[in-house]
Amino acid sequence: MKITFSIIVPIFNEKDNLPELYRRVQEVMDKTHKPWELILIDDGSSDGSSDMIRDLAKKDKRVRPVIFARNFGHQVAVTAGLDYSRGEAVVIIDADLQDPPELILEMAQKWQDGYEVVYAVRAEREGESWFKLWTASLFYRMIYRITDVKIPLDTGDFRLMDRKVVDVMNKMRERHRFLRGMSAWVGFKQIGVEYKRAARIAGETKYPFRKMLRLAINAVTGFSYFPLQVATFFGFASAGLAIIAIPVVAILRLAGTHFFEGQTTTLIFVLFLGGVQLISLGILGEYIGRLYDEAKGRPLYIVREAPEDQ
Ligand code: UDP
Ligand code: MG
Repeated sequence: MKITFSIIVPIFNEKDNLPELYRRVQEVMDKTHKPWELILIDDGSSDGSSDMIRDLAKKDKRVRPVIFARNFGHQVAVTAGLDYSRGEAVVIIDADLQDPPELILEMAQKWQDGYEVVYAVRAEREGESWFKLWTASLFYRMIYRITDVKIPLDTGDFRLMDRKVVDVMNKMRERHRFLRGMSAWVGFKQIGVEYKRAARIAGETKYPFRKMLRLAINAVTGFSYFPLQVATFFGFASAGLAIIAIPVVAILRLAGTHFFEGQTTTLIFVLFLGGVQLISLGILGEYIGRLYDEAKGRPLYIVREAPEDQ
């Protein structure tokens, strides 16, 4: 039977959310009267989510479990979901029900109208700290300005993609992944639908500041050379300053003034330039490290248990 909808859910220690997730997804998807599958990717959970996923799959054949050998991170878990999906339209959604499954119906409508990517825009967010809201907002705006791809603002990974788009994305095997950037990069007919992002129904966020920062760096390095250009800019700016400063200092000294004498000015400039150079090296390092990771060509993820019907 041809599958119309694939629902992809990455799961990392979400045992308190799983039953409700399954119930709501099933309720919504049955309303479409089309064949669907629910792909649950267990991203190295240690709280018993894996067994729950296995049980769900035993009870309902539409549930297809992909169990990872360890934690590979959210973006990679979703990637595995895309690889295993067979639907004509593929929906990515979080396990904590912050993204309401009911919105899938609205997305499916837009898809039927001919849109190939329907992304969900967070018009409002509930139950998140001001720090998370502020950093998230800053993150979206920074990415928008810096990167070469126009990634829609306030948009997470919650989206529906046509099979054509998924097939292209599945060919992009970069390892430091920023899926919403990749899905904007491919083009096609795209549209947003607004929704209110609810609070998590249970459990804690699996995206602490450290992981958000990683994702932001992946987004910037994956889609632009901006940081490298900043290094070049600082290089030119300080070289320019030196060219102007040399004759100025020479003239001042010849005129008998005591400007620029002593260790302090020298020390400040050496420290400043040293800092700029080290930061530039660090930026170079980020890109080189990524090159190295790509060159190793390791698999993106390791699957311990794949769906039986694979
Ligand atoms: N997640 C995952 N692997 C990870 C971290 C998170 O599969 O290493 C899943 C998590 O179970 C959830 C989704 O990614 O389904 C989004 O995570 P979370 O809700 O913690 O992020 P937030 O909404 O706080 O940004
Ligand atoms: Mg969440």
